[in-house]
Amino acid sequence: MAGPETYEVVVIGGGPGGYTAAIRAAQLGLRAALVEKEEKLGGICLNWGCIPTKALLKQAELYRLFQRAGEFGFTVGQVGFDWKKVIQRSRQVSERLSKGVDYLMKKNKVEVVRGRGCLAPGPKVEVRDTKGTVVNTLTARHVIVATGSRPQTLPGVQLDGNQIITSREAMVLDQLPKSLAIIGAGAIGVEFAYFFNAFGTQVTLLEALPQILPREDEEVAGILTKSLAKQGVQIATGVQVSSVKAGAKGMEVLYRGKEGEVVLKAEKVLMAVGVVGNIEDLGLEALGVKTVKGAVAVNERLETSAKGISAIGDVVGAPQLAHVAAAEAVAAVEFIAGHQRAPIDRSSIPFCTYCQPQVASMGLSEAQAKKAGHQVKVGRFPFSASGKALASGESEGLVKLVFDAKFGELLGASIIGAEATELIAELGLAKHLEATYEELIHTIHAHPTLSEGVMEAAGEAFGLALNL
Ligand code: NAD
Repeated sequence: MAGPETYEVVVIGGGPGGYTAAIRAAQLGLRAALVEKEEKLGGICLNWGCIPTKALLKQAELYRLFQRAGEFGFTVGQVGFDWKKVIQRSRQVSERLSKGVDYLMKKNKVEVVRGRGCLAPGPKVEVRDTKGTVVNTLTARHVIVATGSRPQTLPGVQLDGNQIITSREAMVLDQLPKSLAIIGAGAIGVEFAYFFNAFGTQVTLLEALPQILPREDEEVAGILTKSLAKQGVQIATGVQVSSVKAGAKGMEVLYRGKEGEVVLKAEKVLMAVGVVGNIEDLGLEALGVKTVKGAVAVNERLETSAKGISAIGDVVGAPQLAHVAAAEAVAAVEFIAGHQRAPIDRSSIPFCTYCQPQVASMGLSEAQAKKAGHQVKVGRFPFSASGKALASGESEGLVKLVFDAKFGELLGASIIGAEATELIAELGLAKHLEATYEELIHTIHAHPTLSEGVMEAAGEAFGLALNL
């Protein structure tokens, strides 16, 4: 039996990976502790990522919708906003959810230990205060490293938290910047481009690769590029940024693009070029935990190279998404508990970007499916043909589904449009269950809904669309 200071599972890091692991361990009757260095539980996702940004993005969406009031038959005066309140609301949402995690820890009798966790032989977890003094030592049968990630920057570009910022500062700016250069057009770059542009900032989005949202379907990225450009975002792809420095008036970003060397002037620069795992000062090396390219190396059971130590979430590398971290957390704990279960299904992970129009995908894009050697059938359904989309004033975008031509199995899905991030769930389930187009078209979808677009796109791939 475990003694008072001995835990079956000690988790380092209280983000969506870590706290989920602690809950699952407790559910399985394993004595669990969660070590967290920050004051608030929930990690980047709840405090400085997914949740506060989704509050901000909803506010941007509403602001733009109010501006369209006339289209819906409303007469309203000049629509304005109070920037401080816009920010405040997003902080309140975060605060509330973080308290929710405190409650979940209590409910599940997970011991929350404050301080910076570091691995020691045993395995043990030493907990240090801000001065680095060891204030607690926890003996664990299993340790789960869930320390997350932090924003990366470019070589030679120093983040200063004021003029050269990351998403963390961008979500709590005292004032709306007049202009903003965003470097990197992944999910963070695109979401903040949409957000600041909606509130009136002059936004320029710079992306090194040939398209924005490089991991998304080319056609979908093209539709989003046009839409954001129409909304007022300046977009340059295929650029090489060579320097970011303070000029006489604000910042200057020097880059080489299709039009040659450009000096872009902006009040602030937001770095959104990806994240890097928090693998430092954890004692990984001393315990023989291998890392590869800045991420903790794990097998399908989320075990590291050191006995008794697992790792989950952003710290194990891409895709660095909260929902992947949570799925890994459940799997890691169940493997520790000796369950006979399959590794997590990585083939149907949803990828979501919450700008408007929203973008969501899972599985293989058309290009990836072809590259993988599939003969494909592709079905599209534009929301301009959807009754629900027209009624809602949201007719932009489409559902695009990719099937294997031989057996009709769903290989992947890409959606751009209103509620794309909700609609993708059905397709993730379909892929997980190895469904074919027939299951999708034989499932009766409510009318009128945006989800009918999924059924119609499946039909369209095989010449069976009814409303096109
Ligand atoms: P990312 O890796 O998704 O995107 C970074 C982008 O920067 C890429 O498109 C890359 O090509 C580009 N880039 C890299 N170097 C560049 C350079 N020198 N010049 C111009 N562009 C350059 O990373 P992110 O957007 O910073 O997000 C970080 C992580 O957080 C990702 O794993 C992301 O998936 C996740 N995230 C997810 C969501 C969501 O699911 N909605 C939202 C925010 C963040």
